[in-house]
Parts: sequence; C-alpha cells; structure tokens
Amino acid sequence: MNNRYVRGKRGRTASDWRWRKLSQSIRREVKFCEVPRCPDTDLTVDHIIPIDEAPDLIYARENLRVMCRTHNGQRQDKCTDAEREQVQARIRARRQRALHYYQSQEMNC
Ligand SMILES: [Zn+2]
Repeated sequence: MNNRYVRGKRGRTASDWRWRKLSQSIRREVKFCEVPRCPDTDLTVDHIIPIDEAPDLIYARENLRVMCRTHNGQRQDKCTDAEREQVQARIRARRQRALHYYQSQEMNC
C-alpha cells in the first residue's frame, strides 16, 4: 500500500490544494450525507454534474454536495437531467444576484 496519488478509473477527480480547502469548508458547513436519515459520517464532497462533463464547475459551490463515501460510490459518475437543471438554475440565480448587487452599487455612486 502506498500513498501515491492514483488517477481514478472512473475519470478525473479533484485533488489539488484549492479543492481540498473548498471540500473542507463545505464539510464543516454540512455535516451529514444528503441521503435522508443516512447515519454515515465518513463524508466526501461530490460533484453533482461530473467533472468530465463540466470541468468549469469543479469549484462551483452550486455543483457540490455532501455525501458519505458509500452513497457517493453507489451513485458513480451519473447525474440526472433534473439534477443538472437544478445546478444550472442555482448558478443562474447566483449570477442574477451578483448583477443586482453591481447595479445597486452604481446607483449609490
Ligand atoms: Zn450516505
């Protein structure tokens, strides 16, 4: 057994410093697996839309959720259209909020 980083067989995984920081802060924020009543505390942060499909969403909070290792493994790199749409809707909402913020800043000048 060695600790060398091994590229996942199921495609790309995030493992850099920025990712580790982000993953840590999300797990501090969300302390449970997102599957209802799951008691497992061995948590990982999962990309809802897989990295291979949307590399630009690798650090997008809207595309991340907390799951235990077991459920994350069961789910593999699949995502449904409904999940995809949910993530996109959340990202659109964030962009809208940012836009409103800048507009209100301009009015205050
Ligand atoms: Zn779970």
